[in-house]
Amino acid sequence: MSDVDSRNYYLATARPPPPHAPLAGQVRADVCIVGGGIAGLSAALHLVERGFTVALLEAKQLGFGGSGRSGGQTIFGYASGQEKLKKIVGEGPARQMWDIAVEGMKLQQELIARHGIPCDYVAGHLHVGVKPRHDAELAAEVETLHEEYGYRSVRHVGHDELRALVASERYTTGLYDAASGHLNPYKYTLGLGAAAARAGVRIFENSRVTKLDIARDASGDHVAHAANGTVRARYLLVAGGALLGRLVPALARKLMAVGTYIATTEVLGERRAASLITNNAAVADINWVLDYFRLTPEYRLLFGGRVSYSGVDPFDSARVLGARIVRVFPQLADAKIEYAWGGFVDITPNRAPHFGRLAPNAYFLQGFSGHGMVLTGIAGKLVAEAMAGSAERFDVFARIPHRDFPGGALFRRPALVLAMLWFRLKDLL
Ligand SMILES: Cc1cc2nc3c(=O)[nH]c(=O)nc-3n(C[C@H](O)[C@H](O)[C@H](O)COP(=O)(O)OP(=O)(O)OC[C@H]3O[C@@H](n4cnc5c(N)ncnc54)[C@H](O)[C@@H]3O)c2cc1C
Repeated sequence: MSDVDSRNYYLATARPPPPHAPLAGQVRADVCIVGGGIAGLSAALHLVERGFTVALLEAKQLGFGGSGRSGGQTIFGYASGQEKLKKIVGEGPARQMWDIAVEGMKLQQELIARHGIPCDYVAGHLHVGVKPRHDAELAAEVETLHEEYGYRSVRHVGHDELRALVASERYTTGLYDAASGHLNPYKYTLGLGAAAARAGVRIFENSRVTKLDIARDASGDHVAHAANGTVRARYLLVAGGALLGRLVPALARKLMAVGTYIATTEVLGERRAASLITNNAAVADINWVLDYFRLTPEYRLLFGGRVSYSGVDPFDSARVLGARIVRVFPQLADAKIEYAWGGFVDITPNRAPHFGRLAPNAYFLQGFSGHGMVLTGIAGKLVAEAMAGSAERFDVFARIPHRDFPGGALFRRPALVLAMLWFRLKDLL
């Protein structure tokens, strides 16, 4: 998606530190991590804090993947939804996963505070319905979260209040969570990278891993090969997200990389911006193919939506997203779109996360399914725990069964396009 990267708001407005040099020669470490997104960086940080030596290889630059280009909505729970997790793994494990996700929200706040990461965090998130039937769904969800999970930061927002919070006729009622929120994901990722580097993680950018030799037994070393060097390590973490491609075919089969797009308006000015979302919460609608938006600190509207399951950037995303913005906020018909970019999310068929091992000391984290801003951080911490000998919490996730995407390598994408047409149709009903 490099063609749209020239208009990536985060890249245009952040000041990344000087790049880390690419891998050259042979490096030895206790742990080798593939991928410089939040999952890989959080694992790296937690591992050095436990005394491991860590080498992290990033194909491009830290934050090049979803972590650095997302909508920045930091939301409780899982993309699959808690009820679905319960059906898949049963009540006890689903409850453990819930607790881990909630801990992930606290961890994110701790990491921001402990490492002094300036990432514009704002508390408050609205999940909004677009059809009358969504009202009952959202009200029931609030009740379940209160009664079953003791999660008290959420409340149901009625139509009149919602209309006062979000200046759009499109939405019915909402679920407000005071503990979810939004941040600048690129600054957050770079902040984790800086903290990891300060703590002693050896980071190599522009160092795509082209081949992995994975030791099949616990006494062997894994070897990661890049163009001009290798990393040899007792432990391995593969955290390449949607951009891992076919490096590990067993992982590729479980994922579909889905293109999704974001745009920002020009600077709207404080009064005009604040009139759109009066409490400055992040907003996401309830649809499968959802619209999500928030304000930036300099009062732009940052708006994501529209997905491409065909794997190519098929349209002028600035124009298409501009039209979607006006559908939600007709009062922005004259606002210019200044930035537009895209990225890939790593979706599993059941939208539950896919964590596990490729061999005794070779771990992977993937399948955050477009809901990874919070979960990636705690997932990295769980990997560090597991490598240090306490794998109970990491292993809860191994209970989630993951099917291959239907259709095999050749027919996977057409099958997904059909499935998505079905979901979009459901959104319309
Ligand atoms: C446009 C967009 C909007 C999103 N909005 C939200 C949102 O609002 N809220 C939310 O919760 N989630 C959102 N997401 C999803 C979220 O960004 C991801 O779930 C999360 O960032 C995944 O983090 P990660 O560390 O697993 O992977 P990534 O951030 O993708 O990092 C993986 C890294 O691995 C590197 N890599 C891949 N292969 C190799 C290799 N062979 N060698 C070396 N390095 C390699 C990549 O270059 C990449 O930098 C969004 C995603 C996108 C794309």
